[in-house]
Amino acid sequence: MKLHVNENCICCGACMSIAPDLFSDFSDGTSVPVDKELNNEEMKLAQEAIDSCPVSAISFTENNAENLSTSLDTEEELPKAA
Ligand code: SF4
Repeated sequence: MKLHVNENCICCGACMSIAPDLFSDFSDGTSVPVDKELNNEEMKLAQEAIDSCPVSAISFTENNAENLSTSLDTEEELPKAA
């Protein structure tokens, strides 16, 4: 899992206070999350930041090739229409 911050961010700084190692400055006009896979401890801090964001701008994202493959495998297991 990685982190994503969308354009709704109002630069309040709450996420940086909670998880300063996961969010940095507002150079893009929004809080900038670290670009890496999160470990379990970081996931907990990230969830706290997500819960504290006043505009729900933070989310988890998983968009790598491994997950895409898993998604395609799941679709193949769906029952076929008669
Ligand atoms: S808590 Fe939400 S609104 Fe505040 S800086 Fe972080 S992402 Fe932006």
